[in-house]
Order: sequence, then C-alpha cells, then structure tokens
Amino acid sequence: MFSLNRLHGCGIITNYDCSAACAHCAYCSSPKWPRENMTRELATDLFRFLKRNGCASVHIGGGEPLLRPDKLFPVLEAAVETGIGIDYVETNAAWHKTPERTATVLRSLRERSVDTLLISMDPFHNAFIPFRQVKDLMRSCHENGMQVFAWKEAFFDEMEAMGDEVPHDLTEWASLFGGGSISGLIRRYGLGLKGRALETFRPYLVQVPLEDILRDAGPCTELAGAYHFHLDLHGQFIPQSCQGLSVHYQDAVRGALVSEYPVFARLHEGGIGLLLDHARETYGFVPDAKYAGKCDLCWAIRRYLALDRGLDLPDLQPHGHYLHVDSKS
Ligand code: SF4
Ligand code: SF4
Repeated sequence: MFSLNRLHGCGIITNYDCSAACAHCAYCSSPKWPRENMTRELATDLFRFLKRNGCASVHIGGGEPLLRPDKLFPVLEAAVETGIGIDYVETNAAWHKTPERTATVLRSLRERSVDTLLISMDPFHNAFIPFRQVKDLMRSCHENGMQVFAWKEAFFDEMEAMGDEVPHDLTEWASLFGGGSISGLIRRYGLGLKGRALETFRPYLVQVPLEDILRDAGPCTELAGAYHFHLDLHGQFIPQSCQGLSVHYQDAVRGALVSEYPVFARLHEGGIGLLLDHARETYGFVPDAKYAGKCDLCWAIRRYLALDRGLDLPDLQPHGHYLHVDSKS
C-alpha cells in the first residue's frame, strides 16, 4: 500500500490555466483549462495537513498563479493564518502590464508574507512572453522590495541575443543557436520528461524495445518521492516525478489501495509491467514495439485509458492533463 511518512518541499497548484502553453510544461497547462482557483477553505485544510506531516512552508505555482491575483490572495492569507511559510511564488511575468498595477500587486503580496518571486527565464517561456516584459517585472520587483530569482539566469545572454520586443519560438531558437540547441535544453534545463515535455522531446529520445523496458523496470519508487511534490486545487497529491498521476491528499499518508487507485497503486507496487498486464487484460490496450523508456510506455497506457477509453479514474487526475497535453488542444 502506498503511503508517505513525512512531507517536505511542497508546491501548491492554485490553478491550472495559464497565459502560456510552454513546450516543456510537465503539468500541461495552457489557456484551454477552466478558470478555476483553489478555495480558501481547501487551502486551509491543505496547510493544516502539511503542518501535521512535518511540512512548514510551500511554494506557489500553477498554471500561472498571478493570472488572477485576487483569487490567489485568499490562499496566501490561509497560509499566514495556519503558520505555513511561503518560500516563493512562481510566475511567467505575462501579467505585468504597467509599473503602477504591478506595484499594487507586489505590495499586496508582501502584505501576505510573500517576499520572493521565481520569474521564469528560458526559451520555452520566451515563445509566449517577450523578454522585455520579464526584465520589466524584475525591475518592478527591485523597486518594490520583492526579491527575485530568475529560473534560469544562465539563459539571460541568449534571450538578449534573440531580441526582447516580441516572443520567439523554439524554431527561431534553433535557427540562431543551431539544431542541437533544442535537444541540449533537456540537460541545460534539467527537464523531467513528463506531460507535454515528453511529447516535445520524444523525437530526440532513444526508442527501446518493449521487452527491454519490461525486463529492467521494477516498482516505481519515484511515486513515493516526498520532496517537491504538489497539492492542487482539487485536493490531489501529485508526486514530484509523475505528473498526471495523483491520489487524494489524505490518502498520500493514510494509504492508497489498488482497489481505489488501480493505476497509481499498481505502478507503486509492481511497476510498469503490472500496469501493462492490467491495461491489456481489462481494457484491451495493445502496446507498440518500442517506447522511449518506461515513462513513455506509462504515458501511452494512461493516455489510452483517459482519452481512448474515456475513463475518469481517481488516480488519472486532473483529466485536463490528458486533454490539454497538446498545446493547441
Ligand atoms: S511552464 Fe509555461 S505553460 Fe506551464 S505553468 Fe509555467 S508558464 Fe504556464
Ligand atoms: S513509469 Fe509512470 S509511475 Fe513510473 S516513474 Fe515513470 S511516469 Fe512515474
């Protein structure tokens, strides 16, 4: 039975919708998601749960959490009330329009104990957000007492070289820095190839025969990684390395049974081979001859169950993860 003892390194997903639809987004966020935000009541429950289980602070992410600042503020207030610290709020900077409005938002964040923004700075986000907007937000932060860390600053010079007035997609990036610059982003960014990132980078990955994948794959211990996990606006626990899989947050420590979580628990207890057997026997899944590793096979099975078979399983949540993996869908 899957269950965790002690939690740390939690991210709170306040909303899945986003102004961007980045090619590397493991959460498959995009403007296509419903405009739903975490409620204050759920946030309070989640923060109390985290405190009970040894987690004293969180970071806030999405989706773009500052798309609707007024919907984020109650979550921050719940954190203050329950004694949970906010390490930082992640943002893509797209909401920054004028220095005056941004100053107001930053002041409101500081009043709610937020003192640091993580601002995205990389070629994926640059496909949607002009670099000038990112730099202008950083300047506003400095002027308004908000600390910043840019993720990743190592891309700064290349972003400048691309030009900062308009967005530039990965094709433009490759034409300026060479074809290998795209596949090189996997290592430079330290990408976990899940969700949309897997779709984007699959053409660059080695295809492995199915038998070899099954021979080498044991139980997925990755599901029990309790560092840098996420809790979302539906009260779901999402493991660090396996987006698109989840259990209700209370079951993450209480225990997740195969009878309740047929996909998640099989992967945890037996690994991809056990899930494949189940998908074949119960749902008629037919695997390909090769995949780009066990997680690619896992993704193919889960996508088949969620979309081709239309199953709304409790551990394949949020369903939008599968619906919106393609940035255009
Ligand atoms: S990675 Fe891109 S699409 Fe995903 S949440 Fe961040 S800004 Fe939005
Ligand atoms: S096979 Fe599935 S459960 Fe296992 S590590 Fe990969 S994505 Fe996670």
